[in-house]
Amino acid sequence: MKLTTQNIYDLYSLSLCERRLFYRFIREEETPPGPFEEVIFMLGHRHEKNHINSLGEYVDVSKVLRDQQPEKTKQLIQNNTPVIYQGVLVGNETINGSQVQIIGIPDIMIYENSSYIIRDCKLARHADEKRHPEILAQLQVYGYLFERNTGKKPVKLEAFLGDSSIVEIPYDDGDSAMIILNKLLDTVLLAGVPYSPVGWSKCQGCGFRGICWDVSVRHNDVALVYGVDQNLAKVFKGEGILTIEHLLNNYDETSLSELKRPWGKSLRKVGKSAQKILLHAKAMKEKKNILLGKVDLPDNPNLVMFDVEGFPPYLDELEKIYLWGIQVYGEKLGPFTPAVSPIAPDGDQKGWESFLLNCQRIFDEYGDIPFIHWHNYEETKMKLYIERYGDINGVAQRVLDNLVDLLPLTKKAMILAEPSYSLKVMEQVANFKRTQDEYGGKWAMAKYIEAVETEDTNVRQEIIDQILKYNEEDLAATWAVFQWLKEQIGQ
Ligand code: SF4
Repeated sequence: MKLTTQNIYDLYSLSLCERRLFYRFIREEETPPGPFEEVIFMLGHRHEKNHINSLGEYVDVSKVLRDQQPEKTKQLIQNNTPVIYQGVLVGNETINGSQVQIIGIPDIMIYENSSYIIRDCKLARHADEKRHPEILAQLQVYGYLFERNTGKKPVKLEAFLGDSSIVEIPYDDGDSAMIILNKLLDTVLLAGVPYSPVGWSKCQGCGFRGICWDVSVRHNDVALVYGVDQNLAKVFKGEGILTIEHLLNNYDETSLSELKRPWGKSLRKVGKSAQKILLHAKAMKEKKNILLGKVDLPDNPNLVMFDVEGFPPYLDELEKIYLWGIQVYGEKLGPFTPAVSPIAPDGDQKGWESFLLNCQRIFDEYGDIPFIHWHNYEETKMKLYIERYGDINGVAQRVLDNLVDLLPLTKKAMILAEPSYSLKVMEQVANFKRTQDEYGGKWAMAKYIEAVETEDTNVRQEIIDQILKYNEEDLAATWAVFQWLKEQIGQ
């Protein structure tokens, strides 16, 4: 039996899932990576290459024939080679009575004080128990394998992160390595697929979604109910509550509110969430949304739909917004006015300023007008950019004062018969149709990176046009959802 440090990644990334580890281990067929995953892979590889090239001369073990790599790594270590790239560390162990070969390929080993610093390159900005525990676990296993191979402890374990900072992780003499190896082994040795509840965000982008999610939908899995988190789903499973019907037949608001599920290191009652969980279960069972009551939607004749596209912190040092999209909808339809950051050193600031100019024009024409957006991303990023580049004539503050987040209003007004309140789900509920086959925030990010990378200006413009179309349709979708909600509440 072979375990590799890649298995740790299979278990944890992008969210903890024993089922994913198991499927990968048994080589269950999965959907190939999409454009976003490919871009992440490319960026990760580049990050690693840039770093190793900054360290001077090194020996690249990946260039050696695969079956000779462990021996070559040992020799290089014995010879105190200053920098080893992609060395292969192998250890044979008996864990819980099973013979296991453990394989680890740390990105970089740097000779220091008669031993080695073991360093892995990651795009992530954080490496701690809460955020990216897999980075810590992988490094601990490398440290353990290094000690088994050389009889020496590593000088340090380090992660070279996406923002070029280096985080040191204290080596704990193999204790954490044994814990994670046991956990991996316990999962892969199971006779059948382990239980791990599906989750809307958790399963997005997973290559096994076609297996897990589709089966869960067919079975009316209780984990699909909005408000049932991973821990609660596991508690339900322990009690034999597997389907939405089981939940509705076995719990009422009082009994569900008293049920405890793991919460951090303690237990917490479901409490007030019980009411909405049961309403969601009812809506899903009856395939019918439930109207909760009226909410105060802005009743202006015209409204600005507002949506931005940006990079998460782990992909871009700046947490950049590369597209600020706005368009007035209502009685006096305005043009779609996107502000795209030019691909230039000061492009980020230029994009922001161009957006504020577009907003100024709208205020000039329409006076104070609500800016409708979905979820809090737009507000958070506006505050970030005010801090980063300042405001221009108070326009950004005026936009902030006029922001209306449609998501909490929708949640307050309506219990959806759906597992998520994401805009992509809502627009379908509102019967909105897109023209593009491929779209989504991740798709747009991958496309934008492709546009930045290409030297061909025609190709670049074509890609930008596709992203603009996507953003324009996001605005149209937000408008469609707004109108749908208005109609539902009879406003
Ligand atoms: S689809 Fe979801 S439950 Fe299935 S393996 Fe992937 S993350 Fe786990």
